[in-house]
Amino acid sequence: MALVKKPHYQIAGKNEPLEVLARGVEILHEPLLNKGTGFKLEERDALGLRGLVPPKVVSLEEQVTRVLENYNKKTDPLEKSIFLTALHDRNATLFYRVLIDNLMEMTPIVYTPVVGAACQNFGHIYRRNSGMYISLHDKGHIRDMFDNWTSDDIDIIVVSDGSRILGLGDLGANGMGIPIGKLALYVAGGGIFPCKTLPILIDTGTNNQELLDDPLYLGINQKRCADDEYYELIDEFVNAVQDRWPEALIQWEDFTNNHAFPLLNKYRDQVLCFNDDIQGTGAVALSGLLGGMRMKNEKLSDQRIVFYGAGSAAVGIADMIVAGMMEESGISDSEARERFWLLDSKGLVVKNGPGPLQDHKVHYARDEKHIDNLLDVVQTVKPTILVGVSGQGQAFSEAIITAMCEHVDEPIIFALSNPTSKSECTAEQAYQWTKGKAIFASGSPFDPVRLKGKIYVPGQGNNMFIFPGVGLGAALCKSKKVTDSMFYAAAKTLAELVTEEELALRTVYPDLRKIRKISAMIATQVIEMAFQEDLAQIERPKNISKFVKSKMYDPAYPDYVAAE
Ligand code: NAD
Repeated sequence: MALVKKPHYQIAGKNEPLEVLARGVEILHEPLLNKGTGFKLEERDALGLRGLVPPKVVSLEEQVTRVLENYNKKTDPLEKSIFLTALHDRNATLFYRVLIDNLMEMTPIVYTPVVGAACQNFGHIYRRNSGMYISLHDKGHIRDMFDNWTSDDIDIIVVSDGSRILGLGDLGANGMGIPIGKLALYVAGGGIFPCKTLPILIDTGTNNQELLDDPLYLGINQKRCADDEYYELIDEFVNAVQDRWPEALIQWEDFTNNHAFPLLNKYRDQVLCFNDDIQGTGAVALSGLLGGMRMKNEKLSDQRIVFYGAGSAAVGIADMIVAGMMEESGISDSEARERFWLLDSKGLVVKNGPGPLQDHKVHYARDEKHIDNLLDVVQTVKPTILVGVSGQGQAFSEAIITAMCEHVDEPIIFALSNPTSKSECTAEQAYQWTKGKAIFASGSPFDPVRLKGKIYVPGQGNNMFIFPGVGLGAALCKSKKVTDSMFYAAAKTLAELVTEEELALRTVYPDLRKIRKISAMIATQVIEMAFQEDLAQIERPKNISKFVKSKMYDPAYPDYVAAE
């Protein structure tokens, strides 16, 4: 007897019933089909499961209770991460139900900061395959390898080469934790169907000697390859994706900036892709600053902005703010850029500074004297906004923050480096050193701070506010590409969702618990923009917002019924 799923359950986005060919233990081992103890008696009979699970039929809610009981017994965050990964690999519906219903508690486990530890230990905690690995040894075979992935219908691919994982540096093939974690957030926060996601790690070697010396390291045992070989492999990868899954969005994730910018610039107009570290970060930080402007009742274009760090995140954010200033005040691109001072590891980025100027910094290189430290730059420039994207923990000292306060009443301080240990300062330090005047946001979460009886709730400039909605919108309208106007629309939408009550607590981001609503609203604006820019490849829905909501995955068990 053939078994089909009821049509109301969409798998791979299809509305027609799907035949379930697997039977017995096979179903229990397929996380997207498995209901574990949740199979009803008639399903157990029909699917050959009778006797393979305990007799009691358990509801999804009861299963959630059991999961949480076990999860809460674990005190070590990495153990919690391993536990959730095992659940994900066993029963995807249950995993996503638990994750969505406990998003605040579990996002830091599934993604930053704990994903950092999961990546560092990847070879030691590895249990089961998830996603695809492409190494230098696969040159010439990538298109064939993609046939090993059985789904023909992929919406989002998150790909990393593991070269710059969070603020932790080169983790080689261990970087796979990032695409996996990020896609879990896509599903939970953006309602992408799990079966339509694909994490990929491109292994071009690692320069991390500790990993190369580790017998349990799972990547290829060699130093990173030269650039010509590197770009050839990436090109083969992009072409193979285009051939196998022409509608899939490629999200570039955690590439070192010497590759991140050239890859984005090469492919952004050719294929549906974006770089979250550059564009997603840019949009989320811009949104936070727009929230800060609402709080201070000021204009972006009146700000003086110092960036500590001049890499992917810094340039991504600065470019997005430039777009915001131009939109807000009608000033020119070069006028907007005059409001920025970027520092890299050598100090202020200037035209005639020490050493060669990397391409991505050229637009922000200033025509002035080189200054080699942040304190002197702050004293000279008198910034109103200080953004930390350097990966240097505790780089914002009390002296620096105090110097900033001498010229601005309510300094905006965004310490965005991850994980928590790399944050340029803590929330508590920012509020204390500014006597509660700072408008603070960070990359990794900080608890609310009580200072002189007042509660301050630091915002987390989490890319998760932006990328699931952008990806969802771009995928649903089958956009030809992802544009900066889509990111700008996303930033504005997010900033407008911050309530007056949140602003009163000095929070510049909305409550992350509303992420599915936020993603739906951002996706709606992205689709609007795709139609405006003539990039959408679907018929315009009558009501875009309704269309988006109707397409979002919400984890619930399908009913398996006998075919007529
Ligand atoms: P990157 O490697 O591209 O850039 C790092 C930059 O910091 C480089 O310009 C480098 O020269 C500079 N730097 C290093 N040491 C320095 C020092 N001592 N003084 C001054 N500058 C120094 O990395 P990235 O992608 O730009 O990310 C940087 C940080 O931002 C990471 O910690 C990352 O986790 C974080 N980040 C946060 C968010 C977010 O909060 N939403 C998003 C993306 C990245």
